[in-house]
Parts: sequence; C-alpha cells; structure tokens
Amino acid sequence: MAKCRNCSHQFSWGEAFGSNITGFKDINCENCKAVNHPNSIYKVAVTLLDVGPLLLFGFVPAYIPMALIVSVLLISPFFAKYELR
Ligand SMILES: [Zn+2]
Repeated sequence: MAKCRNCSHQFSWGEAFGSNITGFKDINCENCKAVNHPNSIYKVAVTLLDVGPLLLFGFVPAYIPMALIVSVLLISPFFAKYELR
C-alpha cells in the first residue's frame, strides 16, 4: 500500500480508493499533514486500464469489461504512487 512521501505513514486502501474515484484527489497525510499528489504515471496507467475495457463493449459479453473495470478500481490502490507537491 502507498505511503506518505514525507513521513512514510501508510495510507489505507480506502484513502487511495477514494482518491482514485474522485479524479485522483490529493491525499492529506493524517500523520504529518503533507499533501500527497498521485504520481502522473500512476494516473495515466489507472486511466488507461479503466478506459481500455470500454473498447471491448460490443465484442464480448458486457460483464467482462465491467469485471475488468471493477477489478482495476479495487486493485489499483495497492499500486498507488504519490509525490509531494
Ligand atoms: Zn505524512
């Protein structure tokens, strides 16, 4: 799980997930108050992985792209990377 870049405080899955689904909102570390901004490579990767399955609609049963998108949303917080502004 991602850590605060300032003090190494570990963020919860919920914090990273909440950041992702609100358009990669910054996470304010509850330990040191540092503003952790999602890394741009991470943002691009998550966006592509979420948009990619949309291209499958029409070619495969709809539950397949739906399952892929949900999986990315659930798993991506584990790979979140942050940087300080
Ligand atoms: Zn911190």
